[in-house]
Amino acid sequence: MRALFRLFGKPTLDSPLTLAWLGALWLGLFSNWPLWQRMLALPELANGGGRVFILVFAGMVTAVLGALLSLFAWPRLIKPALAVMLLSAAALAHFMGSYGTVIDPTMVVNILQTDVRESRDLLSIGLLLSLSMLALLPIAWLWKRKLHAHPWPGRLGRNLLAFAAGLVLAVGLALSCFADLASTMRNNKSLRYMISPVNLYYSLGSVLAAKRAEPKGPPEVIGADAKLAPREAGAKPRLLLLVVGETARSANFSLNGYGQPTNPELAKADVLSFRKVSSCGTSTAASLPCMFSPLGREAFLEQKRPQETLMDVLQRAGLAVLWLDNQSGCKGICERVPNAMAAQPVKGAAPLPAGLCDGEECLDGALVQGLDERLAALDPERVARGVVLVMHQMGSHGPAYYKRSPADRKPFQPECKSNALQQCERQAVVNAYDNSIAYADWLLARGIDWLKTKSDRFDTALLYASDHGESLGENNLYLHGLPYSMAPKEQTHIPMILWLPEASSQALKLKSGCLKSRLDQPFSHDQLFHTVLGYSGVQSQVYRSDWDILAGCR
Ligand SMILES: [Zn+2]
Repeated sequence: MRALFRLFGKPTLDSPLTLAWLGALWLGLFSNWPLWQRMLALPELANGGGRVFILVFAGMVTAVLGALLSLFAWPRLIKPALAVMLLSAAALAHFMGSYGTVIDPTMVVNILQTDVRESRDLLSIGLLLSLSMLALLPIAWLWKRKLHAHPWPGRLGRNLLAFAAGLVLAVGLALSCFADLASTMRNNKSLRYMISPVNLYYSLGSVLAAKRAEPKGPPEVIGADAKLAPREAGAKPRLLLLVVGETARSANFSLNGYGQPTNPELAKADVLSFRKVSSCGTSTAASLPCMFSPLGREAFLEQKRPQETLMDVLQRAGLAVLWLDNQSGCKGICERVPNAMAAQPVKGAAPLPAGLCDGEECLDGALVQGLDERLAALDPERVARGVVLVMHQMGSHGPAYYKRSPADRKPFQPECKSNALQQCERQAVVNAYDNSIAYADWLLARGIDWLKTKSDRFDTALLYASDHGESLGENNLYLHGLPYSMAPKEQTHIPMILWLPEASSQALKLKSGCLKSRLDQPFSHDQLFHTVLGYSGVQSQVYRSDWDILAGCR
């Protein structure tokens, strides 16, 4: 002990190094409570040996945090450094503890792409409570400490020694339980993304590194040869309404066998609902670019340089395209084609009905307002060749599901009116979610109604696919965004619905009854790009007929 004191100096509260290690202890033991809770619940650790392992693991986490904080143990630096770590760890503890989410690079991309109104939905009493107990309390204590300035060479030496000591301690602890450590981390990959707040800094670092490594300049051109197949004499141009859903999971669609009648309108509309469709990612940021890419999930994940999207290829082929958004934007997909926000007034159209928008946020009903005028505003020469209109929904974006449906379209009651989902009965959370699904059902039916009014000029179709699913409390998981390999099927099993009237089916020369026989065939977002090209009659090297759901029925 005396040797230790000689090395580091007596541990008094006026020493930055002491504060660093106290901070590490607080972060390791308290701010990481969701990690300890998750580990305590693992069946393989529910014995004496398992409990000891959790203690050793807590020691490792604390030692690593102590090592890191030792580098910041300077009189002017330690307080702000600890404040940042305590605040971020407290916020993470709230989200990981409440929603069962983990913080990996994809989640950090989601966080960075979240806009103000989306993040406002996440503010809650729970978050404030977590911030005050886990961060403000220790920060208040910390700020009162008067730190003495020691000569810097000695301080640097001590800090480096403490850094090394922390690492040696962590490695020693890891070696002492290596077998348990290896098997626990292998079987529960999500644990590594729960070690807070290093999970955040690590993920942030790898996202920024990937961003820097990305080549500058315009995206790689795809489908440079895209052109429209010559239209047969007398055939009409094709109009496709492509609706990109948000956070809708297949399991809650009554079309796919769900118990609550969430699809009353589509049930009457003669649609094809594909029942075994999986998403590309578990978040908007991961799925959306992949849905509009020709590569398919596997190659998309390997892709180094950003590519153009489906929208660019359709436009290059000569079609009229429009991206209509009611969310935080198209994540770069629609940059080079006509696009508009649903809240933006349409020239010449009646103003949006009262109650649809509250200034900055609109219900999805705004997407189907003024469509005639939006169509009329597109280049008429292109329109004469065909149209692809994309609608990007707010859909079932959580946790404030109750905000996603208007007061007069809430068939399922009682509904959870809070964004702190754990405070509601589970059924009330599900009801609020199902109301948003029923509203999407209503929206798609209005889309079909509108397409029917265009059938004299166009052959029409509606294709709907959600970007990813959602956890609604199964296994204490909420929301979405878990790493794909460990995500439950609720987050990846998505609805995909096609409405194709007889005239369009004939124009495409589809074998009657063929698509119906494919409803239980496994599909994924991989098929989206190629099915849209196939429907629209776009010919290009980039098109794969084996990934075109319609081509298999010609
Ligand atoms: Zn999404």
